[in-house]
Amino acid sequence: MTKLDCNVVSCSYNDDNCCSRQDILVEGTQAKTSSETCCGSFAPKGCGCGSNCHKDGAKKETAVACEATECKFNSQKQCSANHIGIAGGHADSCRETECGSFVCQC
Ligand code: SF4
Ligand code: SF4
Repeated sequence: MTKLDCNVVSCSYNDDNCCSRQDILVEGTQAKTSSETCCGSFAPKGCGCGSNCHKDGAKKETAVACEATECKFNSQKQCSANHIGIAGGHADSCRETECGSFVCQC
């Protein structure tokens, strides 16, 4: 599990800069920079999404599946970093979010 901070306050899963999901998927198959990644689990506030959440609210520990295989923390499409930050502020879509902890091994 990865400790996850997320500043995407426009996401329905965001709870005080934590993610209330048990798991997320970071996208960016060809990514060579953070900005080419995104949180594919983003859902805009008001969409009525609420499934797959921790029963007792947001927690720092989240299972992070990740398609950005160029990142040095990617291990068989799972994130092996101890701590990551998802960024995006007031994003309107998942494309406006990113994994700020991406480090290219290219
Ligand atoms: S953008 Fe991703 S990491 Fe952030 S709260 Fe939403 S689902 Fe969780
Ligand atoms: S740190 Fe790397 S492996 Fe982990 S979620 Fe971010 S891009 Fe994926």
